[in-house]
Amino acid sequence: MSKVCNLLPSLDLTGLTLQFSLQGRTALVTGGARGCGLAFAHGLAEAGADIAIFDVVDPEPDFYTIEKNLGVRTAFYKVNVSSEESLQSGFSQFQKDFDNALDICVPCAGINRHLPFLEFTYKDHSDLLAVNVLGLYFTAQLAAKQMIGNGTKHGSIVLVSSMASHIAVRSQLCSAYCGSKGAVRSMCPAIAKEMAEYGIRVNSISPGYVRTEMTAAFPHLLESWKSEAMNGRIAEPEDIMGACVFLASDASSYMTGQDVIVDGGSNQMVVMQTMAPSANNEGYSVGSHDATTTVVVVGAGPSGLMLACNLARYGIDVVILDDRPDKTSTGKADGMQPKTIETFKQMRLAEPLLKNAARVHDISFWQSTAEKELHRTGRQTHYPDHLVGASDPYILLAHQGMVEEVLIDDMESRGLFVTRNSRFTTCSRVPGTMQLDVSYEDVSTNTIKTIRTDYLVGCDGARSKVRDFIPDAELEGEITNASWGVLDGVIDTDFPDLWSKVAVRSHAAGSILWIPRERNMTRLYVELSATDGERVDRAKATPEYVINKAREAMHPFRLEWKTREWFGNYVVGQRVAKHFMDSDARIFIAGDAGHCHSALAAQGANTSMHDSFNLAWKLNLVIRGLSRPLLLSTYEEERRKIANDLINFDVEHCKAFSQGEAALAKNFNENIRFISGVGAEYQGGILSHGKNITSAKLQAGKLQIPAKVTRYIDANPVDIQLDIPLLSQFRIYLFVPDVPSSLEFLHVLGNELLNSSWEIFQREQISRTGNGLGIRPIRRPQRYTAVSTAFTYSMVTQSAKSEFEIADLPQILQDSRWSLYLDDADPIGCTKKWFGDLSRQTVGVTITDTSGGVETWNLAAGVEAGKWLEEYFTFMS
Ligand SMILES: Cc1cc2nc3c(=O)[nH]c(=O)nc-3n(C[C@H](O)[C@H](O)[C@H](O)COP(=O)(O)OP(=O)(O)OC[C@H]3O[C@@H](n4cnc5c(N)ncnc54)[C@H](O)[C@@H]3O)c2cc1C
Repeated sequence: MSKVCNLLPSLDLTGLTLQFSLQGRTALVTGGARGCGLAFAHGLAEAGADIAIFDVVDPEPDFYTIEKNLGVRTAFYKVNVSSEESLQSGFSQFQKDFDNALDICVPCAGINRHLPFLEFTYKDHSDLLAVNVLGLYFTAQLAAKQMIGNGTKHGSIVLVSSMASHIAVRSQLCSAYCGSKGAVRSMCPAIAKEMAEYGIRVNSISPGYVRTEMTAAFPHLLESWKSEAMNGRIAEPEDIMGACVFLASDASSYMTGQDVIVDGGSNQMVVMQTMAPSANNEGYSVGSHDATTTVVVVGAGPSGLMLACNLARYGIDVVILDDRPDKTSTGKADGMQPKTIETFKQMRLAEPLLKNAARVHDISFWQSTAEKELHRTGRQTHYPDHLVGASDPYILLAHQGMVEEVLIDDMESRGLFVTRNSRFTTCSRVPGTMQLDVSYEDVSTNTIKTIRTDYLVGCDGARSKVRDFIPDAELEGEITNASWGVLDGVIDTDFPDLWSKVAVRSHAAGSILWIPRERNMTRLYVELSATDGERVDRAKATPEYVINKAREAMHPFRLEWKTREWFGNYVVGQRVAKHFMDSDARIFIAGDAGHCHSALAAQGANTSMHDSFNLAWKLNLVIRGLSRPLLLSTYEEERRKIANDLINFDVEHCKAFSQGEAALAKNFNENIRFISGVGAEYQGGILSHGKNITSAKLQAGKLQIPAKVTRYIDANPVDIQLDIPLLSQFRIYLFVPDVPSSLEFLHVLGNELLNSSWEIFQREQISRTGNGLGIRPIRRPQRYTAVSTAFTYSMVTQSAKSEFEIADLPQILQDSRWSLYLDDADPIGCTKKWFGDLSRQTVGVTITDTSGGVETWNLAAGVEAGKWLEEYFTFMS
């Protein structure tokens, strides 16, 4: 929510300012939990009114900041305006809580049904009228009664109509909606006339195309609507807010029974268009593309969803296409590795998965030989702390659809929906520009559509079509003879290790991998042919064949299935694309489109999501104009290295599987950090040109080390690697063992950063609100405060809380008060884990990017430290 100057109670209001002030008044907004309703509530509060909102959904976090930031009273009531009972009980409670005060009412709750006129049912239409017409009418009536009862001298009702009551909205199916908004506009003067004798004014407001949750479901329409407004853009809810405040305030005291249209001139444009001979219904072309966006993502599997979800969080316009009609419902990937769990925690999305998934902490090894039947040969912790050091040292087992759902839900809550049944077909450069025209087929109507975009990312799996548009990006590597059958289901067995991950090597029937799953299920990977064996004919690999093979390998244990949910089989290919991006840094691939390998070590979806996570924050910084495009080249450098590491590991892992327990245990021990994701390490490049590294553990290109610290401001113990939300910013940690004796250093550094001619600071201030770039601001979680959209500063100290106040620190750290930590919560100590024995005369500086790469230096001089940071970030200026 952008900030508008607040008319603070302490100001001496006179003249015109006074006319706009709502100090001392009480307002009720229905549909106030989000979108336009929330913006209206915010605007009225900024003008000084206490605010109550009615809604059927919980308010967005912004609502809860109103009271704190603006010093007015707020309250939320769960009310369904289409129910007479709910509306009346909402009003009773509100009257009780606010001592019957009410001066302003904005009935804004409304819904749309995107249905053709010929398909509208009686029920659909009456549901819509119940909210948009009856709900609004009776909200206004109850509000008017309350205003008459309390004798307010400032009664104002602002009915929310729509531009759709003036024109037939082009390209959207909304006949019932238009009608309902027409009813609102028509009832307005009649109600106004009746209410005039009580001194209550009644007006309506007709917003044009506004970016809200309601319209976000139609990203392609949002784009096409831009051209219908004279100013060429869609309104944000805040653009409508001023008109609402005006109608609510005494500034509009001579207005009643009127409709105010706030639509960027769209309704006047329609008149011009229908009079013009080139209107599209006269056979003229509407242009070469149906919509425009900033990034087109092809594929809504793990990598595409992770990318689109993050870009939506950063406020970047995205269209995500997928050829499937729905998300994955069964099968495919099921194992989330420790690093991926950490990433989901950092995104604050891990909860549903942690709640519902199974956890694997150990692995046991079984073997049979010609002489000895199947027996356990060993058991070990899957991710031993001394080798891995992960904060969640287990594999989290949940099928791919559950992971996809978490990302989809988050995206949808931000107004981004997967455009399904849409198959990418081709793309071409728009002559004379860096833009691309991306074509896809709507497979439900067999029509071809085109989107104009700045960037295209292929997350379209192993048979990627987008890859074909990156020169010299073909896959390199082998398709092996190894093939596996995969079965998911609830197993009935007397095998004792059903709830551990189990690697079985049978002398007669090959290998089996057991993986416990959510909902009491078990996944069995059954080896059908080895890497150097003869590949089994796919047609022969039926579920029955695989089951028999599994029973043979598990003899003498009983193996039955109570239920079977999914069956699949695959041949292991081990290949990496020669390039992950084109030389203009406009077309990219991520996930299986760039690398494929066996599924045995549960790496594919994990690596795929880390690919696109890495790409997302870099694209954001470049699109916002905060970094030069050079940053994007690190995507290929870093992620292609990991893909190659993965293939090298996978080759050895598959070999070890067919060699038996000793080889497999050795392979595990040597690679367990890599398998967990914690050991994914980058080399060189502008983001990890490590120098002056002081600790064996904290190294350029490696991840942060988990540690407990105490947050200074509220004394909460937190995990340092999770506490600062990942919002595409660099985190700059200052490790200051002794704050009192380092204050001079900190102030010199603070001044150096704030006062330097560092262009990046100035530009990022502009981009903070998306000014001029047409990018929505990044939504920040409550409490956490960042210095900017590009940097979060943090300080970790071994000084006690009593030794310094936040006010002693330089401004830049005062502004970062939610990321100041005391190093007193970890048995080893965060400083020691990150830097070893850091002398009290020294300050350690570490830059951590969103992917977790770390750059570190010990410093004694503030100016030098500032210069070092400036030098590090030259790729941004
Ligand atoms: C049996 C099995 C078990 C596995 N187990 C694990 C595991 O435990 N852990 C793990 O990390 N990985 C595992 N994997 C691997 C994992 O499933 C993949 O690595 C992962 O799905 C890759 O994600 P992605 O988003 O890159 O591609 P995909 O999941 O393949 O998604 C690509 C998407 O793009 C869509 N698409 C394709 N072409 C087009 C087009 N032209 N237009 C529009 N859309 C298109 C597809 O329909 C699909 O929705 C397993 C794989 C298999 C087969």
